[in-house]
Amino acid sequence: MAQALLTIDLDAITANWRALAAASGTAEAGAVVKANCYGLGADKVAPALFSAGARRFFVAEAAEGTRLRRAIGDAAEIFVFTGHMHGDAGMIAEARLIPLLNSAEQARRHLESLPDAPFGVQLDTGMNRLGMEEAEWRDMAPVLLPRAPRLLMSHLACADEPDHPMNPAQLANFRRMTDGTGVTRSLSATGGILLGRDYHFDVTRPGIGLYGGAPFAEAAPVVRLSLPVVQIRDVAPGETVGYGNRWTASRPSRIVTLSSGYADGLIRAMSGRARVFAGDTACPLVGRVSMDLMAADVTNLGHAPESLDILGPGQGVDALADAAGTIGYEILTALGARYARRYKGAAG
Ligand SMILES: *Cc1c(COP(=O)(O)O)cnc(C)c1O
Repeated sequence: MAQALLTIDLDAITANWRALAAASGTAEAGAVVKANCYGLGADKVAPALFSAGARRFFVAEAAEGTRLRRAIGDAAEIFVFTGHMHGDAGMIAEARLIPLLNSAEQARRHLESLPDAPFGVQLDTGMNRLGMEEAEWRDMAPVLLPRAPRLLMSHLACADEPDHPMNPAQLANFRRMTDGTGVTRSLSATGGILLGRDYHFDVTRPGIGLYGGAPFAEAAPVVRLSLPVVQIRDVAPGETVGYGNRWTASRPSRIVTLSSGYADGLIRAMSGRARVFAGDTACPLVGRVSMDLMAADVTNLGHAPESLDILGPGQGVDALADAAGTIGYEILTALGARYARRYKGAAG
């Protein structure tokens, strides 16, 4: 089979959730499961997180929440970061989603279409992406607070840089906007959890750390991606490999052609920079990554492998991301639809 195998370790994900829940101190850890659990499969991963104890889930858009509700059942809260968009009322009501209202306009829409449905409020404390700005919130608070929002939240722009002055600045803004409200509060994603107690409030929102990515350095690795060898050949000095002749053999070389390419999320920027692994032994990618295929130099390996790992113990999502000039989030969410996916772990 030329189908690459993506193995997703559900026990590692739940272990990461427990570790981040412990790191959240007295705050309750929720779970961010947007973008299909960062590409890993919400239908499998979200129920595992529920079994581990997560009860507050966060998605980006209402349609994700609808599907999530079917996967995790009725006992959890599902919050929607983009709030109550035009056309969402049916989904919000049916799947009992909790929109995080981002503006006075969204608040009006929600109160008019679903006056008795729960909601939260997202506040902008400086990132300028989502949420009510302070003046808007001051206007709306007298209307919204008596209706008992389920959550007041904001999001940190620079939490992966612990010494960044933006962190205490946003913290101060969040406090000023929410102190004394008595409402459940949430400020921190993975990075904010690691900034310490002041940032934890009542609920934390870990995402990337659950899936094994930085800035949660102690995360258990979650994914392994094995690429089958389609062909193996000997290449003489002076011969080239792949589109554009971008690699030339400088010695007699053994070259494998691997099944997977940029159509599977292994982006072209990895060309000549990332590595694939046979156990502990690294083999460099050579030539350009193409749509369905890529090549690696296995001369030093001494045997003909059946497959090589591009993600695994030798190279995690952040190492692969570094090689490609991107971040682990993008590596995970780009993982392709063609992979055979195997879930391992008790929860699977
Ligand atoms: C994506 C997201 C999170 C999770 O962030 P991580 O860095 O993946 O932990 C939390 N809150 C909001 C608003 C988000 O958009």
